[in-house]
Amino acid sequence: MYVDSHCHLTFPELSERLEEIRAAMQRERVDRALCICTTLEEFERVAALAQSHENFWCSVGVHPDNEGVEEPSVERLVALAATPKVVALGETGLDYYRLGERTLAEMEWQRERFRVHIRAARRTGLPLIVHTRSAAADTLAILREEGQGQVGGVFHCFTETQEVADAALDLGFYISFSGILTFKNAAELREVARRVPLDRCLIETDSPYLAPVPHRGKVNDPSLVPLVARQLAELKGLAVEEVARATSANFERLFKLGLASESRT
Ligand SMILES: [Zn+2]
Ligand SMILES: [Zn+2]
Repeated sequence: MYVDSHCHLTFPELSERLEEIRAAMQRERVDRALCICTTLEEFERVAALAQSHENFWCSVGVHPDNEGVEEPSVERLVALAATPKVVALGETGLDYYRLGERTLAEMEWQRERFRVHIRAARRTGLPLIVHTRSAAADTLAILREEGQGQVGGVFHCFTETQEVADAALDLGFYISFSGILTFKNAAELREVARRVPLDRCLIETDSPYLAPVPHRGKVNDPSLVPLVARQLAELKGLAVEEVARATSANFERLFKLGLASESRT
């Protein structure tokens, strides 16, 4: 019934408890999950997870926060994207939150890495999973410059303003909401979520992080994604079943799952 569109099941907090988590998912009717890649070093394990479980899919990409890891090229990403069960490029994007002592000019490597992912997405026709933090203007500008509107994707774990949401929607992107939507201090984000059309919304855990209330601060996992759906349903004045149905249909449409299960696995 529910889909977790973004989780990190290869991270040690979760990978050692996989069977327990899969049982919890089944109990909570979370029947599908997208396992997100954050380094090329990790890709083989992410792909193996997706290939060994019928209801898991995966992405390929290098997270903007990861430094000192193998740098992706367009060719390498395109080649890895042909792996069975890969349905997206990412997560990629810009994160200026952890600048430290550095200036924005010194973050050119991050912008270049983002462009490489977009070019690979355009070449493969796969959607892009965008991570943006404290960098919305540059993220949108680069997406426009690189023409990503033509293949689309999702702004994952959305925490930005209405303006940014509108710009992302204009580019044809989906908006994915995480457990942050349930946090006490997220009133502004709840207002944004209320206004994003249901047919452009996804839900996710971003587990092991960001457990929704009442589990905030604990280790998150995909079985908790119904709490995000419940919050979204409440904001939109809908039944939770309707939000589950719509976000699942959006997930299938964005990641072309009908095609993926027939021709790509
Ligand atoms: Zn992210
Ligand atoms: Zn993530």
